[in-house]
Amino acid sequence: MTQELRRLPAVHRLLESPALESALERWGHTALLEACREALDDARRLIGAGDSPSTADLQEAVLAKVRSAEAEAYSAVINATGVLLHTNLGRAPMPAARQQSLLGYLALEYDVQAGQRGQRLAPLRDKIARVCGAESAVMVNNNAASLLLILAALTGGREVIVSRSQLIEIGGSFRLPAVMESAGCRLVEVGCTNRTHLHDYQDAITENTAAVLVAHQSNFRIVGFTASPSTAELATLAHENGLPLIVDQGSGCLHDLRRWGLPNEETVTDLLGAGADIVCFSGDKLLGGPQAGIIVGSEAWVKPLGTHPLYRALRPDKTALVLMDRILRAHETGRLDEIPLYAMLNTTIETLKRRAGRIGRKLREKGVPARGRSTRSTLGGGTTPDETMAGYGLEITGGQALLDALRKQTPPIIGRMEEDHVVLDLRTVFPEQDGALIQGILAASS
Ligand SMILES: *Cc1c(COP(=O)(O)O)cnc(C)c1O
Repeated sequence: MTQELRRLPAVHRLLESPALESALERWGHTALLEACREALDDARRLIGAGDSPSTADLQEAVLAKVRSAEAEAYSAVINATGVLLHTNLGRAPMPAARQQSLLGYLALEYDVQAGQRGQRLAPLRDKIARVCGAESAVMVNNNAASLLLILAALTGGREVIVSRSQLIEIGGSFRLPAVMESAGCRLVEVGCTNRTHLHDYQDAITENTAAVLVAHQSNFRIVGFTASPSTAELATLAHENGLPLIVDQGSGCLHDLRRWGLPNEETVTDLLGAGADIVCFSGDKLLGGPQAGIIVGSEAWVKPLGTHPLYRALRPDKTALVLMDRILRAHETGRLDEIPLYAMLNTTIETLKRRAGRIGRKLREKGVPARGRSTRSTLGGGTTPDETMAGYGLEITGGQALLDALRKQTPPIIGRMEEDHVVLDLRTVFPEQDGALIQGILAASS
């Protein structure tokens, strides 16, 4: 073993070896030196464990280290799962075109007309309000932040009434009772898991009550013997007692989902029309935008949110604001196809079948056993929990090993298993990715 250790080159010798010459040029002396040191440390451990790495192994290890330091931390993937808003894959995909204003300086907090300091949210506030049919609006980092800000700013440590059927947990450790506690308000639970009546809310209102809160059951359903008062009934009750009705709508539904064969859901505009004072939702679910929390409602209740000290900690960054502007313009002008989420929803089965036919033919020509097949795509991302829409894609014989090999391609292809076959849903694969999909499948099958 000592002999083996002695055989290892000195670090400067390894660094200057001809095999690493072009790497030295590309990554520079400092990075390569560090990689050589680490590779030698690894080699000593390997020798200690009874291995005997060759000089070529050492050089390969150095190259692997400098290359991995250069790899992107978040690689782009091909989403062939058929889940349109996949929380693990970044929820709503963004439009591909570069945003000129994000490349350099932008008038983020600067009023160009007046030549003086402006407010960060001012250029977007009215647009958000218009799109949602609201009087006023605020945007924060995500919807968890919306709730935190609303409750901290408006409830002042007092009681907030919530139905027991709505004490929700959303993936990624969002739990409504915990958020309420962090915001410093006291949760008052009313009703039962399956049934809550208007009089349950009525009986819970005291002089310590600050608000009535409704949280949308985004990722589960309670079915069977159920009851809950309507938004209008709750709004009337809250207003008779001088309280705001706050609705955590969650998904940011703005359009009638029946257009895409999905079940209808109360839209943000419906909720405001029914008397909700404040409605909040995520920017990256059905709005199809960047990660954000949107809060809309009446001027009187929304205005204090933008000036609360917590707002400074929760405000969105310029990237989210610029992207949100673009998404809102598409909603406002009805050009929904400019939003990738809606372009995918609008894609017809015939179009998906044509693509599957083309891709399947190319794969079969190279001996890959692929066939077209019907799929069920889902919205996902804490929206309509159990509803699916018709989709179309490919089925490839190959099992778990093929599914794993697909994931290891560049870009990784994420599919799913169904009855021992790999299923790739084309609804969530962008047409411009079809070439990369074919290449990836061929490489994974070889
Ligand atoms: C998704 C969701 C949240 C959490 O929103 P984030 O933007 O992920 O913070 C909160 N409440 C409801 C009802 C939701 O659907």
